[in-house]
Amino acid sequence: MSGKVTFDSDRCKGCELCTTVCPKHIVLIDKSRINRKGYHPAAVQDMDQCIACASCARICPDSVITVEKF
Ligand code: SF4
Ligand code: SF4
Repeated sequence: MSGKVTFDSDRCKGCELCTTVCPKHIVLIDKSRINRKGYHPAAVQDMDQCIACASCARICPDSVITVEKF
């Protein structure tokens, strides 16, 4: 199973919860970007590794993350 993960980045508050639950360790805080709220947003660095488990989406308190399976 592969996944495509998208972030509503401007709603991310950089809490890092999603980075702690990914079994593939591919969700990171992107320090090179700053969103509209002034936070470094979370992002996936190697989408090919995603197994579409949706753990990141489930834990996000702000429903920033959408995971599509294919
Ligand atoms: S869906 Fe699972 S494997 Fe993919 S980025 Fe989120 S936590 Fe990681
Ligand atoms: S859990 Fe949600 S709000 Fe927190 S860093 Fe991840 S995407 Fe951003």
